[in-house]
Amino acid sequence: MDSVGVAAAAPDAGPGPAWQSKCPWGAPSTTSISCSLADVMSEQLAKELQLEEENAAFPQVVAAAEGPFITGENIDTSSDLMLAQMLQMEFDREYDAQLRREEKKINGDSKVSISFENYRKVHPYDSDSSEDEVDWQDTRHDPYRADKPTTTPRRGFTGKGKDITTKHDEVVCGRKNTARMENFAPEFQVGDGIGMDLKLSNQVFNALKQHAYSEERRSARLHEKKEHSTAEKAVDPKTRLLLYKMVNSGMLETITGCISTGKESVVFHAYGGNSATEDKVIPPECAIKVFKTTLNEFKNRDKYIKDDYRFKDRFSKLNPRKIIRMWAEKEMHNLTRMQNAGIPCPQVVILKKHVLVMSFIGQDQVPAPKLKDVTLSSEDMKKAYYQILNMMQQLYRECNLVHADLSEYNMLWHDGKVWLIDVSQSVEPTHPHGLEFLFRDCRNVSQFFQKGGVAEALNERELFNAVSGLNITADNEVDFQAEIEALEKMNEDHVQNHGKKLSTFSSDGDPPIYDE
Ligand code: ADP
Ligand code: MN
Repeated sequence: MDSVGVAAAAPDAGPGPAWQSKCPWGAPSTTSISCSLADVMSEQLAKELQLEEENAAFPQVVAAAEGPFITGENIDTSSDLMLAQMLQMEFDREYDAQLRREEKKINGDSKVSISFENYRKVHPYDSDSSEDEVDWQDTRHDPYRADKPTTTPRRGFTGKGKDITTKHDEVVCGRKNTARMENFAPEFQVGDGIGMDLKLSNQVFNALKQHAYSEERRSARLHEKKEHSTAEKAVDPKTRLLLYKMVNSGMLETITGCISTGKESVVFHAYGGNSATEDKVIPPECAIKVFKTTLNEFKNRDKYIKDDYRFKDRFSKLNPRKIIRMWAEKEMHNLTRMQNAGIPCPQVVILKKHVLVMSFIGQDQVPAPKLKDVTLSSEDMKKAYYQILNMMQQLYRECNLVHADLSEYNMLWHDGKVWLIDVSQSVEPTHPHGLEFLFRDCRNVSQFFQKGGVAEALNERELFNAVSGLNITADNEVDFQAEIEALEKMNEDHVQNHGKKLSTFSSDGDPPIYDE
């Protein structure tokens, strides 16, 4: 059921319980517009404002649209259960609305936002799957069982408003029942009735209890389903579709499984297909790096991309999704440059949105071990060191790049040599923090090989000079760092005075971006 809000659910609108369509409160914020929950949530404010306007301009039209729900003849206000459930729905909706407000407040104008989605109360009217209907009838064990079964006569309210009459024991029992609502699952919002002198009949209490229990389980199932699918497939439906398309088109043979789940990306292994449409040969084994589109961590990486002149003009205009695509794009361009310089690294196969397909470093689905996980002979260790020194120089001089996350975590040992991976954050040396990043890379490499027993390994300052060709003479870390920052500042001023270089991706001989 896609329609949202009580008013949108016409009496014959779907399989939901009858009381859904009989809400006596009507629904001032809904018209007959039918759209997805997500749309409503993001546009709620706009819609409210619009409705306010509409109300002012066309009072009669709106009243007519709401008419049937306000004057509905079937409203059965004598049913405690129905009233209670409707109240519960109303409460939960308010709870969700509050969540949305908080979400909005926290996120503000931030480029990447966090979501409270999982804390929302999900109800049948906004659920899109009917298979999640309540099934409490088959529950054998009821953890919320009342101490005593109903001994009081099953009688509901006999009056209306203040004229409700009840027996004394019902009052006591009712109060007890209200108090016992506290024992409902902690996630189940029971409102502030507990603090009031509210009496619930056993019948209503039991029904509510069952409602709470089934809602709880239903909501848990919904969330579990979501979580499970993310854990299993590690990607959102849109990404999954992209992956399916790659298999469908014959570019990939099969996607076998997940190699790595990081904070910012998920990497899969796949066997390459032999699609005739692609002009290049697909490697027999591929790695698919899916950049996560929902995480806050990317905010921390702003500094890498924001100040990269290649992306500067675009950065400010982009939404979070596009910024994340840019990471994938950046990795592709950087890998291509490295490939052209002959640095061992994955070869780019294709880029689609935030999904980068490249050649797999490893064999038979087993990825090559990271340098941190492999035990090398002292000879190999030395060989690896000189290779890395050489690669860092090539990267700097031929590719005009600084890796910016170089460490034993992002170097794989394969085929008797070191392969560089994970270059989405790599920047050009003239990046405002480029030299600092290089110095950090040098520190990681230097420390790793010095600890690893390579006597020839240069210290971080020597390595920095050897890679950059600069000649910083400071003999201690603090002064060295200060000189680096001074150089960066000079470079920045130079850029400001002479205008920034304009980015031209095509000049790298980069592959085209496949984007729909
Ligand atoms: P992250 O940003 O999550 O660190 P990486 O690019 O480092 O992303 O990839 C994570 C892990 O996935 C790597 O440590 C490596 O084990 C594996 N991996 C990534 N790319 C490849 C590849 N082309 N071939 C084999 N394994 C890869
Ligand atoms: Mn990595």
